[in-house]
Amino acid sequence: MYDGAIQDLIDELGHLPGVGPKSAQRIAFHVLAADPSDVTRLADALRTVKDKVRFCATCGNVAESDQCRICADPRRSDDVICVVEEPKDVMAVERTREYRGRYHVLGGAIDPMNGVGPDDLRIRQLLTRLGDGKIEEVIIATDPNIEGEATATYIARMLSPMGLTVSRLASGLPVGGDLEYADEVTLGRAFEGRRTVS
Ligand SMILES: [Zn+2]
Repeated sequence: MYDGAIQDLIDELGHLPGVGPKSAQRIAFHVLAADPSDVTRLADALRTVKDKVRFCATCGNVAESDQCRICADPRRSDDVICVVEEPKDVMAVERTREYRGRYHVLGGAIDPMNGVGPDDLRIRQLLTRLGDGKIEEVIIATDPNIEGEATATYIARMLSPMGLTVSRLASGLPVGGDLEYADEVTLGRAFEGRRTVS
């Protein structure tokens, strides 16, 4: 539609999740009209996140060094791991202030329709972490939708011979939804009311 650089920007923005063609156009013209220093800050932030941020070697959360802030924190309890799908879910659980243990980020959920199987997720790494015998409870906090439930069931089955307490967040979370969209109170209650699955 447009020529050259502005169309390139619209196309790039249009590849971002949740950004439709109209929003891409609106953002592109906002950038065009913005103060040059604001645009430089945005460009720097984009570059820096790719340069600096990686995934924690232990839990798979986002990190700026080998280990994330939570894995590196000696005040967190070592006997409980909360298993989530994505780093954004770590933030959702942290916001509840109900949980002081460690995390394990799977990097998605089992989704055969889209070709995602257990081997595509960090399940093997979870089993390795559980091998040291320090962990007593695993809380499975995958999304309350079909893929999240399938993933929870699979993990619970894998863990059942290990003699750990495995629990799943209580109902009350909006079914079919995404953990990150649950409000803090609902998610906090779901945590408190978690039920043992094996
Ligand atoms: Zn970590």
